[in-house]
Formats: sequence, C-alpha cells, structure tokens
Amino acid sequence: MAAEISADYGKVDRPLILLSVLKGSVVFATDLSRSLTIPVNFDYVAVSSYGHGTESSGHVQLLKDLTMDIEGRDVLMVEDIIDTGLTTSFLFDHVQRHRPASLKLCVLLDKTERRVKPVPIAYKGFDIPNQFVVGYGLDYDELYRNLRAVHILEGG
Ligand code: 5GP
Repeated sequence: MAAEISADYGKVDRPLILLSVLKGSVVFATDLSRSLTIPVNFDYVAVSSYGHGTESSGHVQLLKDLTMDIEGRDVLMVEDIIDTGLTTSFLFDHVQRHRPASLKLCVLLDKTERRVKPVPIAYKGFDIPNQFVVGYGLDYDELYRNLRAVHILEGG
C-alpha cells in the first residue's frame, strides 16, 4: 500500500498531508508513514463516535479540527476501520470544505457488510467480517490499543 501511495503522490510539488483520525488510526498511520518514500506532513482530527460500547451511535461530533492550512494541498485521510461509513463520510465532507487540491481515503480494515453510507476508499488493507476488533490502535473502552495484532473481541 505504501509503495502504491508513494508512486501515486511521487510527483506532487508539496509534501502529502497524512491526516489521521485520532486515536484509532495513529498506529497504522505511523507505520504506513515509515514505509512511504515521499515527503509527508502530519495532521490529526478527532471525532467522537462509539463512546463506551461496540455499536456506532451514528451521531458524529468533531472533537479536534485540523491544525494545518490544507487549502490547495494533497491530503490522504488515514482511517483505522470503516464500519457504517457515517464517521468517515462526515469527516470527508468536513475536510473537503477546507478546499484541498485532492482528498483520498486510505483505510486498514473495512467491514463492508455494515455500510450505511458509501465512502470512496482509494487504498484498502483488508476486508473483515462484522465482528468487533481491537488492537493495533483499535480500542474497547480505551483498552487494547497497544496490542501488536488485530484481535476479535470475544462477546463484542
Ligand atoms: P463508522 O462510523 O464507520 O460506523 O465507525 C467508524 C469508527 O467506529 C472507527 O473509526 C472506529 O473508531 C469505530 N469502530 C468501528 N468498528 C470497530 C471495531 O470493530 N473495533 C473498534 N475498536 N472500533 C470500531
């Protein structure tokens, strides 16, 4: 995936902005960035979505906005997982309003069967079944983010 992204953005004038969504995608975005062979900048946004449970509330709220001026810049939004698509589509629209030159989406895990709102995924790691997963940045009630691998949460 990093090779593909590096090739696709190899000719842009200014560094690619890797926009990760806190907190879940930080581990993936960091690992991904270390495999890229192109200059990058980092920025972060945060939204509230799941609260304490394993079911999406569908109500998305922006908790932390961008800090960089992304107008005219190439932005790659990095997501840990897409479930209903509500969070990502909310964020996509929000980021688009800052008028980047381009905006694409990169996601590690995709639960396609749960999709409510379609989202345009440009780079995808893996399709996974409809089970709640933790580890590699993903949490349950703020736990397990530090696990090295992705695990299914029993009873999740
Ligand atoms: P969506 O809005 O697509 O339903 O949900 C996206 C967000 O919900 C993700 O960014 C992630 O924070 C959370 N989420 C969705 N599925 C899972 C899962 O299986 N495990 C964990 N830990 N979080 C999930």
